Amino acid sequence: MQKSEAIVSVADAPAQLEGLLELMRRHDVVVTQEDGVHVGHFPSGQAHLSASAERVEMRIEAPDMTALNAIKLELTGSLTYVYGQELNIDWSGGTDVRTPLPKLCVLTVQSVEQLTPHMRRITFSGDNLIRFAENSNLHMRLAFPDGAVDLPLPMVNGRGRVVWPEGAKMPVLRKYTVRKVDLESGTVAVDFVLHDDAGPGSRFAAAARPGDVIAMIGPGGLTAAAADWLLLAGDETALPAIGRILEGLPPTARGVAFIEVAGPSEEQPLVRPDGFDVKWLHRNGAASGTTALLIEAIRAADFPAEGSVFVWAAAEFEAFRSIRTHLRKERGLSADRQLVVAYWRKGSTEDEMGKAH
Ligand SMILES: Cc1cc2nc3c(=O)[nH]c(=O)nc-3n(C[C@H](O)[C@H](O)[C@H](O)COP(=O)(O)OP(=O)(O)OC[C@H]3O[C@@H](n4cnc5c(N)ncnc54)[C@H](O)[C@@H]3O)c2cc1C
Repeated sequence: MQKSEAIVSVADAPAQLEGLLELMRRHDVVVTQEDGVHVGHFPSGQAHLSASAERVEMRIEAPDMTALNAIKLELTGSLTYVYGQELNIDWSGGTDVRTPLPKLCVLTVQSVEQLTPHMRRITFSGDNLIRFAENSNLHMRLAFPDGAVDLPLPMVNGRGRVVWPEGAKMPVLRKYTVRKVDLESGTVAVDFVLHDDAGPGSRFAAAARPGDVIAMIGPGGLTAAAADWLLLAGDETALPAIGRILEGLPPTARGVAFIEVAGPSEEQPLVRPDGFDVKWLHRNGAASGTTALLIEAIRAADFPAEGSVFVWAAAEFEAFRSIRTHLRKERGLSADRQLVVAYWRKGSTEDEMGKAH
């Protein structure tokens, strides 16, 4: 068994520890108590956590260094997040040991299929895909070498921090949806929109060949909550998520999906419950990210008067904003009955969009 400990000096340590425990629970870590000490049961090991007035004490153990560093990464990141400023966390022992980043999967392109003129399905082979098969976590980040010859792979150091090979050109990260996982063949499929003004994600998809290597980090993100009636809405970037949500619904599910695409040639056959309508909205020559098709369809939709409702929507930033405002102000839908997300922003790369929010 590998062990390490750290004593961190912080103001109001009991409150910081409470915040840390809350975050761990939200990340599905079971927390119990033993003799006044909190014990976090991570998939890879355990953490014993306690606080005095100005010190948080963390003692961790795991079967090997990879598992130990994974716990350090989680605790270091979470405590820093809770505290709201950089912390110098000095873990004892083995601090120069670098181990693979947990949640990272190396993917190799296996096949490329043109689903519609602007949608390309790329099937990748990779190891340990099981966690991406959960229907509750739809999304992940892809790391593209974008110009570098080899994809540099990040590691975790013994201080619980992510480190990159020295001198490496950083890969570019973009968010995508896990469209399908086939655990038997060890493959994962991602549907890429081939858009104008292509960035690293779209560029990679347009040129992908069997044997190309990228990395996948995750999964993360939320799906639609269960409800008596479900409204799904999105443009083509949300089509992979809508397709996956529809496939995962029980046969009795009822609702409607509004999907904005360029035109009829971008429609896809979608497996869905009998009680679910799919309505395709065509831009008919207008550029993506410039229409009000989604908000108009949602505004005109008949929400059932009885039973629970959930709205899941993802689209360009302006569409996202109008949908969110409509649901809050005109429909009075509470925050726990909706998940509305901006998937991209016209005129901004994903990095610029991230900085703006
Ligand atoms: C949680 C989540 C899941 C997502 N899932 C998917 C998915 O499964 N498939 C998918 O294709 N996309 C998906 N997206 C959207 C995707 O991340 C963005 O479109 C991203 O900007 C693409 O990266 P890029 O490198 O091609 O372009 P960037 O470098 O980010 O941007 C370059 C330029 O292209 C423009 N642009 C970006 N996207 C589009 C678009 N769709 N149409 C027209 N112009 C665009 C930008 O405004 C910018 O001007 C998802 C986004 C999120 C947040």
